[in-house]
Amino acid sequence: CHIDYRPAADLLQGRTILVTGAGDGIGRAAALAYARHGATVILLGRTIAKLESTYDAIEQAGGPQPAIFPLNLEGATHSDYLDMAETLYQEFGRLDGILHNAGLLGRITPFEQYNPELWAQVMQVNVTGPVWMTQALLPLLKESSDASVVFTSSGVGRKGRAYWGAYAVSKFATEGFMEVLADEMENQHAIRVNTLNPGATRTQMRRTAFPGEDPEALRTPDDIMPTYLWLMGPDSQGVSGEKIDAQPPRQ
Ligand code: NDP
Repeated sequence: CHIDYRPAADLLQGRTILVTGAGDGIGRAAALAYARHGATVILLGRTIAKLESTYDAIEQAGGPQPAIFPLNLEGATHSDYLDMAETLYQEFGRLDGILHNAGLLGRITPFEQYNPELWAQVMQVNVTGPVWMTQALLPLLKESSDASVVFTSSGVGRKGRAYWGAYAVSKFATEGFMEVLADEMENQHAIRVNTLNPGATRTQMRRTAFPGEDPEALRTPDDIMPTYLWLMGPDSQGVSGEKIDAQPPRQ
C-alpha cells in the first residue's frame, strides 16, 4: 500500500495511458489524477456522456488533451480490439500504461440462485474483454520504454466470500491472468504487470454492494490515488507479478 506516496508533479509527463471505465468512480478519479501528473489519457467506457464529463474536467484543469474511446466491453469482439489497437497506434504510436478498471458487480446472491446469463456477462466485462484488449495492445506496450499494466482486483479476488458469485470468480481469474502475463513478460520487455485492489471505496458499485453502509465512512476515489499513481509511474519500476493494495485494510 502506497497511500502516503507523494508523486512528483510531472510523474507521468509524456506518457500515454489508457483507462477503462473512465467515466465514473475510481476510473474517473484515476484519469484525472494521471492527466494532472502530465499523462495523455485515453478515456474508454460505455457511456459517452460520462466520458465527455471526464474529458471536460481534464481540459478545465489544464491537463494534456485527452482522447475518448467509446467501447462496451460486454459486446466487444476480438476484432474490435484489433481495430482499437490500430486506431491507437495511428494516433499515439505507443502506450505507456493501461489501467484495467472497468468492472461489473453482477448480483450479490446465493450461488443457487445465480443467473447464468448474468454470470457470463460479468466474466465477459471483468475478464475476457480485458484479456483480449491486452493481447491486442501488446505491440503498443512494447513500443514503450517503461509500460505498466494494472488490473483491478478486489478483496474477494484473493479470498472468496459467500454470495459474491461471478464477481469473486472474475477477480480470481484476473489475479491468475496477471501472474501468467507478468511471468511471460519478465526479462523480455519493459512491461510490468500487477493487480491493484482499491479496497472499500465510495462509488456507485460499493453503494450497490453494501446499501446499508454509510458512504461517509469510506475513502473516496481521490484518497486512494497515491497508490494508483505509484503503480502507473516510474517509481514502481521493477515491480511485476505483485498483488498490490491501494489502501490499508479497514479496522
Ligand atoms: P463504478 O461502478 O463506479 O464504475 C465502473 C466503471 O466501469 C464505470 O465507468 C462503468 O461505465 C464501467 N463499465 C462497466 N461495465 C462496462 C462495460 N461493459 N464496458 C465498458 N465500461 C464498463 O465502480 P468502481 O469505480 O467502484 O469500480 C472500479 C473498479 O474497482 C472495478 O473493477 C471494481 O470491481 C473495483 N473495485 C471497487 C471497489 C469499491 O469499493 N468501489 C472495491 C474493490 C474493487 P458506466 O459508468 O458507463 O456504467
